[in-house]
Amino acid sequence: VREWVKDYCRKNGLLTLSVLAVVTGCVVGFMLRSLNLSTQAKIYFSFPGELLMRMLKMLILPLITSSLMSGLSAMDTKASGRLGLLTITYYLWTTFIAVIVGIILVLVVHPGTGTEKEGHRISGGPVMTSADALLDLIRFAFADPSSSFAFQYKTDLVPNVKSIPLDSQANYVYIMPDYDNPKMGHPVFLELTPAPEIHYKVVPGKSSQMNVLGIVIFSATMGLLLGRMGERGSPLVNVCLCINECVMKIINAAMWYFPFGIVFLVAGKILDMHDPVILAEKLGMYFMTVLAGLFVHGVILLPLFFFLFTKKNPFSYIRGLLQALVIALATSSSSATLPITMKCLLENCHVDRKIARFVLPVGATINMDGTALYEAVAAIFIAQVNEYELDFGQLVTISITATAASIGAAGIPQAGLVTMVIVLTSVGLPPDDITLIVAIDWILDRFRTMINVLGDALAAGIMAHLCRKDFQPNVPRNNDQRRDT
Ligand code: ASP
Repeated sequence: VREWVKDYCRKNGLLTLSVLAVVTGCVVGFMLRSLNLSTQAKIYFSFPGELLMRMLKMLILPLITSSLMSGLSAMDTKASGRLGLLTITYYLWTTFIAVIVGIILVLVVHPGTGTEKEGHRISGGPVMTSADALLDLIRFAFADPSSSFAFQYKTDLVPNVKSIPLDSQANYVYIMPDYDNPKMGHPVFLELTPAPEIHYKVVPGKSSQMNVLGIVIFSATMGLLLGRMGERGSPLVNVCLCINECVMKIINAAMWYFPFGIVFLVAGKILDMHDPVILAEKLGMYFMTVLAGLFVHGVILLPLFFFLFTKKNPFSYIRGLLQALVIALATSSSSATLPITMKCLLENCHVDRKIARFVLPVGATINMDGTALYEAVAAIFIAQVNEYELDFGQLVTISITATAASIGAAGIPQAGLVTMVIVLTSVGLPPDDITLIVAIDWILDRFRTMINVLGDALAAGIMAHLCRKDFQPNVPRNNDQRRDT
């Protein structure tokens, strides 16, 4: 028995502790709510959880830059081109499928019918067409400050240097998340005005400065160029490999802190909740519809795609990812989870390093199946509540804009809530109606983040299979293969 316990602890100890930590966090959080702690006490209480978030965020910049630069520098042009094309196509395809699943479910379940709200509430605000939304994506690519509300809060594809005083921060550093933000990277602040009616206001938070996509584009370009520079580029490639190795070592050490941090992270969030979650009938149905959609996509469709492409058992692959999924649940941030996802992929799923180093950072930035699904369901739910009939063209618009808005959402807590404005305005729904779903959004966010992370990790497995010929045998292009294999 002792041997069995030892073996179990070695293999699953950390995972079990993390799951227990989530449960303990919920129990402790709800118990402490009744004590009506002061704001000061809540801040102290949340500190260990905040530390966990910071540890993870601290690793994002070194991990993404070093992974992409070293990963891409080791590929030849043909291999990286093929991998890039396949990855982006797969990401778009699965995101679109997720949206379709969401649309079908919300049309069948119809959670928004008969809600307490009456009549049409469609305000006469500016209506954004899907053409506007698409143009906006392109404008956003060139960091035009006049781009839409949603994308201003995402990230600039090409990091914007215009507004940065030359003597303050270099743009490479500037594009990192704003760590001074007391809201810990929340793109959305929820303001609660007192009775008579609970009313939430969604206002943009400071962390709009987070620009992971900018980092990805910058590092990928550097990596491709470094690969072409051959010997002359190898000192920098070696630096990146060293950074990468160190990041992985830090993660290994920090992992033992995670269960402790998770308890406080989850409990702190529950303490911070504005009111007990009142699941009115229709809101409850909406909640269940999103959850059902995430389940169908994450537990049936994505594993099915994985099986069809690789002919391997998707669930044994997913077992290796459980630690990352628990962290996604606890942090609601796919960017913050990235270091753990990388660790799980390399150590448990044995995905080729070069592929993981490209597919994961890009996926954590643009591939958000869970977010896309939720955006489509939420927009149609809001239409149903307003008794607003959507025609087929508008459903198509929602499917396109929900896909675009999920690509535009950063991998941080509740980013999807902000980018949803683009979906709502594209079909003439009032963006203010986001307030209808805000109360339960933080819970849904955790589940959709899990699906976002799962989608990236399964994609890495599929790409590793599809591109295996490009990467085997391992022909060293640089002298980085020493540590790389
Ligand atoms: N929290 C999600 C993520 O990090 C994004 C969102 O849907 O709000 O993947």
